[in-house]
Amino acid sequence: MTSPSPCSGLRRVARLEDLPERDKDHDCVGFGPHRICVKVDGVAELPTRFGRFKIVAFWNNRDGKEHVALVHGDAMGASELPTRLHSECLTGDALGSLRCDCRDQLEVALRRLSSMDRGLLLYLRQEGRGIGLRNKVRAYALQDRGLDTVEANRALGFRDDERDYEVAAHMLASLNVESIALMTNNPDKIAQLQRYGVKIARRIPHVIPPNEFNRNYLLTKALRSGHQLEIDGKPILSEQDDPVVIEQPGAST
Ligand SMILES: [Zn+2]
Ligand SMILES: [Zn+2]
Repeated sequence: MTSPSPCSGLRRVARLEDLPERDKDHDCVGFGPHRICVKVDGVAELPTRFGRFKIVAFWNNRDGKEHVALVHGDAMGASELPTRLHSECLTGDALGSLRCDCRDQLEVALRRLSSMDRGLLLYLRQEGRGIGLRNKVRAYALQDRGLDTVEANRALGFRDDERDYEVAAHMLASLNVESIALMTNNPDKIAQLQRYGVKIARRIPHVIPPNEFNRNYLLTKALRSGHQLEIDGKPILSEQDDPVVIEQPGAST
């Protein structure tokens, strides 16, 4: 077992902009079984179409992947910080693919976070449920030929979900976050983060408000309790791990 907080060198600083200097020589024993260590090496303003954020770039000393945090408001050292973990999906996030609803989930999260006093989105570079972009496309090809998501991943030699949240745990520690209010519909994600020492004060349901264009699409997915579109009768699992929940008119949450 690793200690929940292996990072002793992550002293508090006043501003996000002070983090690259603090982390210049940071190198700890790392989080989780893969001993992941990250350090902040860039912070800048990032106004977006969804609201005002700062972008914090992390360098990962184990596999070189570049993760980012989008920070809204005063998040340094915060308690019960509204937080969303989003796993990269190039096809959905950037290209608008309808094989998944990653982009909807990302947009809703960023709008919600920027409407609050403070909020944090960790954008994690674990494309295709952790198998990478090329393998995701190969898995899509197998699905086009009739395999379901799980069968396709297994045919390629992967588990159905290769994601890991050690990086997220270290990123939260790097930002000196005391505890988070996690925006998710998935209790398993909460358990995984707690294993790495993240304090989760509460859960915020991640609810997608429908519009006239996607109402039926979202309702279909919600009825399938977490399954996405079907291709040739085979369900496709969500690439984010949250079953879709749809906002009902007049609902109080
Ligand atoms: Zn570290
Ligand atoms: Zn996706």
